[in-house]
Amino acid sequence: MNVLDLARAEIRALTPYSSARMEADGGRVLLNANESPWSPANEAGEGLNRYPDPQPAALVNRLAALYEVAPEQVLLGRGSDEAIDLLVRAFCRAGTDAVLVSPPTFGMYAVAAAVQGAAVVQAPLGDDFSLDVDGVLAALTQQVRLVFVCTPNNPSGAPAAPAALAHLAQALRGRALLVVDEAYVEFADTASASALIAGNDHVAVLRTLSKAHALAGARVGVLLAAAPVITLLRRILAPYPLPAASIAAALAATDAAALVETRRRIAVLREQREWLRGELAALPEVVAVLPSAANFLCVRWRDAAAIYAQLRRAGIVVRDVTRYRGLADCLRVSVGTPAENRAVLAALRNVEVAA
Ligand SMILES: *Cc1c(COP(=O)(O)O)cnc(C)c1O
Repeated sequence: MNVLDLARAEIRALTPYSSARMEADGGRVLLNANESPWSPANEAGEGLNRYPDPQPAALVNRLAALYEVAPEQVLLGRGSDEAIDLLVRAFCRAGTDAVLVSPPTFGMYAVAAAVQGAAVVQAPLGDDFSLDVDGVLAALTQQVRLVFVCTPNNPSGAPAAPAALAHLAQALRGRALLVVDEAYVEFADTASASALIAGNDHVAVLRTLSKAHALAGARVGVLLAAAPVITLLRRILAPYPLPAASIAAALAATDAAALVETRRRIAVLREQREWLRGELAALPEVVAVLPSAANFLCVRWRDAAAIYAQLRRAGIVVRDVTRYRGLADCLRVSVGTPAENRAVLAALRNVEVAA
């Protein structure tokens, strides 16, 4: 079975929009896109009068090298959120098909499914928040087109075991696309699942520049998958997904010197994560700090609401994750700078922090 047999027939059949920018290669006088012939007034941005390249080769090649895949296995979009949306729209027929998620996990998979009119099948993580491959396979129905696995998982923090992912990929062949969301993998010890793509055209991996590469504001996300899947999704991708300024920022933030600095920062965050884990675990208000391979810690408290309010009074905002399955007493704390992490502990130790 070809992976595209899992996709919606009408998406395979549609004639994609052909943007003016795609036809402009080699042109000297560009009069085909109704653009302004002048850069914007007030020096607002040299060259911004032109539509951006839909999939700029320089950035595609840069990220293919960074993520160790071929350029034709890369799709650039507006954050991983766009890739999630495209996958659901391309593979799930409204009112018929479904996605499978393992709660507690990232909410966007279910939201994208709801927008598309696809059902959401749940196969919860295990009691220790590890991926339950047998549970996923038991919950799998004929309708499930996409199986989302977030590793390290947001909001709980633990990674899926590589062997479990490989097993799942094997079991899903011909049945569903396995989508591995690796938004936080840079902070983990586990290798990327992108190595699975070579032998499995039904495996897709989500990467993002939003977290480790400090570019959340630029909105650059990457889908890695077999070339036919990338080609399929390009048919329904917005004509010009990436703003020119975001393309420039992504290139600057991933050159050799930037990657050296990013790796140094990742090392600092990992070290701070372990330090913060130890300090938090020693506090009487803390019930447990969940294992995390990401840049955050999910913490169980005796009274999560009171702690949330106490931190808020000190001007510190953490994430209330009490609505998630199995996390009713938890707050998720991003690891910040060393000074920010010390401020969290100071606010927790001093119950009478001034408002
Ligand atoms: C933050 C995050 C992303 C990244 O989303 P972008 O749209 O690329 O900013 C993806 N998946 C998960 C689980 C996240 O927590």
